[in-house]
Amino acid sequence: MSLSNKQLSVKCPTCKSTVDWVPENKFKPFCCDRCRLIDLGEWIFEEKRIPGESIELDLTDEDNFSINNYSK
Ligand SMILES: [Zn+2]
Repeated sequence: MSLSNKQLSVKCPTCKSTVDWVPENKFKPFCCDRCRLIDLGEWIFEEKRIPGESIELDLTDEDNFSINNYSK
């Protein structure tokens, strides 16, 4: 395992700026709290716009919530 010395970075899903994947960045994969909230808001709107689908949102299941949010 040699990942510990490697500097990882991701692109902010909202504004596409480069975000260092470090423990200090509590908003990752977003660059800031604002981008994080924007993306969460869009995700909720998308879910509500799906026609004819029954929405099963279980926000107490955090693992499931994270997968749905980041797999698009
Ligand atoms: Zn951003």
